[in-house]
Amino acid sequence: MSIFDLTIAEAGKKLAAKEISAVELTSAYNDAVTALNPRLNAYITVTPELALTQAKAADARIAAGQAGPLTGIPLAMKDLFCTEGVRTTAASKILEPFIPPYESTVSAQLLAAGAVILGKANLDEFAMGSSNITSGYGPVENPWKRNGSDAKLVPGGSSGGSAAAVSARLALGATGTDTGGSIRQPAAFTGLAGIKPTYGRCSRYGIVAFASSLDQAEPMARNVEDCAILLNAMAGFDTKDSTSAERAVPDFTKALTKGVKGLRIGIPAEYRLEGTNPEILALWDKGIEWLKAQGAEIVEISLPHTKYGLAVYYIVAPAEASSNLARYDGVRFGARVDGVDLIDMYERTRAAGFGTEVKRRIMIGTYVLSHGYYDAYYLKAQKVRNLILRDFTNAFDKVDAILTPTAPSAAFGLGEKMDDPVTMYLNDVFTVPASLAGVPAMSVPAGLNAEGLPLGLQVIGKHFDEETVFAVSAAIERAAGFSALPDVRAK
Ligand code: GLN
Repeated sequence: MSIFDLTIAEAGKKLAAKEISAVELTSAYNDAVTALNPRLNAYITVTPELALTQAKAADARIAAGQAGPLTGIPLAMKDLFCTEGVRTTAASKILEPFIPPYESTVSAQLLAAGAVILGKANLDEFAMGSSNITSGYGPVENPWKRNGSDAKLVPGGSSGGSAAAVSARLALGATGTDTGGSIRQPAAFTGLAGIKPTYGRCSRYGIVAFASSLDQAEPMARNVEDCAILLNAMAGFDTKDSTSAERAVPDFTKALTKGVKGLRIGIPAEYRLEGTNPEILALWDKGIEWLKAQGAEIVEISLPHTKYGLAVYYIVAPAEASSNLARYDGVRFGARVDGVDLIDMYERTRAAGFGTEVKRRIMIGTYVLSHGYYDAYYLKAQKVRNLILRDFTNAFDKVDAILTPTAPSAAFGLGEKMDDPVTMYLNDVFTVPASLAGVPAMSVPAGLNAEGLPLGLQVIGKHFDEETVFAVSAAIERAAGFSALPDVRAK
């Protein structure tokens, strides 16, 4: 068995038993990154020396008997988390020279748990996208291939670098963020598990803001258990983020063996979209059977405002983004292009620093917030967002969790779906409603399509009930027995 076959849980046990050392594990991963990252472009910045220093400290901690489940575990950090002294770009040229003077709360908590950071993972610029092609540092290649084809596929987005890194075994796990589906969709595209916790579960402090009322930090890993281990360390109240929730963090790993006997699982009629790929619908039916077979009760439910999810999201998210991104003015952070006067400097800096998709969102956002259109678009969207939330609250009177597909397709080709931005936005159709409602949702790898590409199922839970999400996801994982591996990976 290769060292790369270990999960976080397994590697943690071997480290604790001193069968392997953190330095050994980290060196293997550093070498894998050196060998495969030039091809996959999963990391924007690699930090092999820092990783080794952290690994040495982890070994000392293990020797002193003070290790936790993440001590010595090599991870990828999405390049949206500010890391003290390590460049943080948000995949934007405007932040190319930005070295944060402070650490995000989530990354600080992972470091405090003894995790090793291999580098900063690539993403869509400012997390805007569904395929990682909007990155200012080049696209990421999905380690998976269609059967018998060498065509390059996208890893999904925006956490595409995190997904490719974990899938190709260039990290044992990764952090991501999810605003409208950015961890669940890439997890589904690369055969990984990923959970977006309840809004407020993890601190947003030090995460480069995209849409503040939606952004959440999250773990991505090879299985459900590893996600639980990561979330245990990432979650928690933080006085530095006024939207973080003052709630006790349960041990999420305890939920994994709870089973689904007696749980009521909702199947929303509105997610059976016309024209959805039959393979995805068939997998969804399989998921229903798996849960039934393990003792769950299946309940038809209705989420009637789901159909407005994308429209609402693509007003609210750009509106918040246009406001959040106003800070990149050439004065306070990152890049600057001088001009004849202050306004000219702002304009030149932002014209050169932002990519096309980011500019499009800033324009949409300022438009929907502008005098005369605010009520028609932004206010209306906020009202419909409330109706979407109410759909979920009503559904959760009847059910304990909801099962849906994660994405409407498997990973697509690099360069596909690029003719018009709306085609790209449709990727988020199944993930956006949970983001708008702020409820937790997890993607679990559940099968392969006819072309040999992974597909995911999504489990949505009640606010702050990640435990049921983990229990249901673990049940699906057990039934699916997903063990396929990508073509391109460290061995
Ligand atoms: N694909 C969605 C977007 O482009 C979601 C991205 C995200 O969750 N960060 O906005």
